[in-house]
Amino acid sequence: MPTETKTTCPYCGVGCGVIATVDDYGKASVKGDPGHPANFGRLCSKGSALAETIDLDGRVLYPEIDGQRANWNDALDLVASKFCEAIAEHGPDSVAFYVSGQCLTEDYYVANKLMKGFIGSANIDTNSRLCMASSVAGHRRAFGSDTVPGTYEDLELADLIVLVGSNLAWCHPVLNQRIQAAKQSRPDMKIVTIDPRRSVSADLADMHLMIKSDGDVALFNGLLAHLAGSSAFDQDYVSAHTIGFNDALEAAQTRSMLDVSEETGLAVGELRAFYRLFETTEKVVTCYSQGINQSSIGTDKVNAIINCHLATGRIGKPGMGPFSLTGQPNAMGGREVGGLANMLAAHMNIEDEAARDRVQRFWNSPTMAARPGLKAVEMFEAVADGRIKALWIMATNPVVSMPDADRVREAISNCPFVVVSDIQKNTDTAALAHVLLPAAGWGEKDGTVTNSERRISRQRNFLDLPGDAKPDWWHMAEVAKRMGFDGFDYDNPATIFAEHAALSGFENGGTRDFDIGAKADISPGIFEAMSPFQWPHRKGAPEGVTRFFADGQFYTPDRKARFISVKSERDDRTSKDAPFILNTGRIRDQWHTMTRTGKAARLSSHLAEPFAEINPADAAELGIDKAGLVRVENSFGSVVLRALLTERQPRGGVFVPMHWNDEYSANARVAALLAPHTDPISGQPALKNIGVKVRPAEMA
Ligand code: SF4
Repeated sequence: MPTETKTTCPYCGVGCGVIATVDDYGKASVKGDPGHPANFGRLCSKGSALAETIDLDGRVLYPEIDGQRANWNDALDLVASKFCEAIAEHGPDSVAFYVSGQCLTEDYYVANKLMKGFIGSANIDTNSRLCMASSVAGHRRAFGSDTVPGTYEDLELADLIVLVGSNLAWCHPVLNQRIQAAKQSRPDMKIVTIDPRRSVSADLADMHLMIKSDGDVALFNGLLAHLAGSSAFDQDYVSAHTIGFNDALEAAQTRSMLDVSEETGLAVGELRAFYRLFETTEKVVTCYSQGINQSSIGTDKVNAIINCHLATGRIGKPGMGPFSLTGQPNAMGGREVGGLANMLAAHMNIEDEAARDRVQRFWNSPTMAARPGLKAVEMFEAVADGRIKALWIMATNPVVSMPDADRVREAISNCPFVVVSDIQKNTDTAALAHVLLPAAGWGEKDGTVTNSERRISRQRNFLDLPGDAKPDWWHMAEVAKRMGFDGFDYDNPATIFAEHAALSGFENGGTRDFDIGAKADISPGIFEAMSPFQWPHRKGAPEGVTRFFADGQFYTPDRKARFISVKSERDDRTSKDAPFILNTGRIRDQWHTMTRTGKAARLSSHLAEPFAEINPADAAELGIDKAGLVRVENSFGSVVLRALLTERQPRGGVFVPMHWNDEYSANARVAALLAPHTDPISGQPALKNIGVKVRPAEMA
């Protein structure tokens, strides 16, 4: 009899429920789970092609040492001894873990525990640093904690959705489908898209604002100044529940409407129309993603948006609030267990001595990292300059995804000891491993993930582990034991999740009221049957918490939210030699570096090759033909791509998708062009405002 398993899609942060069926011949198929509250049965093109990506072609099936098949004992002994050696000779900060939003919460938990509580360094960071670190920093500045106030349902209840820096239609397609359905049933619902590029998402919008790159702070500061003098300003809320409004307003008012027009590239009439719509619509959700986060002023952009919601008291209520969308399936789970260099565990701050003591006692660990570790870009700089002697990369491909990718490749090549845990053998990063460890893939993994609305769902296994493959948490637990550490005797993911849940509620108040500790007595049977719920889980509330802050109580010491004064200066990354602004992002049917979606032929039929979107007028000036080859280059690197001429692209800009790597197309790895500029607060790299030169590619 075919067996059905309820699990979760491993791609974007929507976190759709999937029902996987394996027939009597072992063939898997998937469909959307109608009972899952993220998608109610819907799937996008990537999700519905999942069954086509789970073959064993190119899989890592056995541990390898220097490219030769090895057994687990030898591989794990070698990893443990090399890490111990580096720590003994150079100290705990000479080693690092670079993990991934693909890791399950249980993987993240064990990695974070090993690095911070036992090795004694905070050098663990994640590719989620590239996706939502600015939102984390913005939340913490405004709310005193990294808490997403709302829920997906708010997008359906809103009368106005402001979609800023997000191509939702391609990057979070099922959420876009939910909004489409809501708009069809309520035609008065309005959508405003704000993006330098008129992406497909703008096709659903009532208004599209083709803003200059990084003009968002100016736009939302202008909105704050407008709201302050309008009927939408909620003086009672601001007085009772916030601090810092006058300073934020003063910073916003340094610019006139004409200045805002100049800094955003938007006509005064467009600005007035948008501001008036925001003012007169009570139920507003401002939904944002990488166009906000992936910027050298990303955290300020986040706070500029939150300021406008605080000024109107439109937060945490049905259909109202700022809403950050996470890019990856478990970026949020990583945040919950502290799998970032500047966090501790269970949303506690690493800078907080009492919190460090609490976690150390809970883990009964010999040490505790005392300060934040290296964030992603800093980590690879430390690899490049020799400070990192042993590096463990899990479930990610930084040679294709990190900025300044050629230097990252060189740095990893020169690192004395590199471990890669992955499912695919042919990634550009796996090729550089001294030890390659076979990981569990989707369908084989078992654990939990948390989506953008804080909903924890089970990712369940329905396939046997192939070859010698093992889950990432097992790799780390085995190495930890070989390094001589206690506290890593996990038999299954349920025990890890139960420990994480207990830590969240440790000492009643350990994480304020973040009490998923209510779920701490979790047996493997309960874990197996666990239905999706919104974190935090509290006793007597099995569905979890839908919204935060409607009561005006925040997680700052005085329980008041903070307005943050933000200035609107934007970085101009163009120059005489690099006059175009490069913008990067996803396309509809590929995921990250294509190690899985590249296997499904039908996904490649949407956009089959890497391309550069260019405005036709720019192309004419540069002598670039429709579908001709173009070279996009700067002082960091050079790529060759197919020209895709479109009015959707503003003049002076070029858009290139992030996905292609050397396996699928030579010289198309756009990360090679990305300067390692980061937001000084969040450490998130700026991946959407890079100076480049564009020209016809020379013929061979
Ligand atoms: Fe998967 Fe995201 Fe598509 Fe849902 S919207 S099926 S989570 S890729």
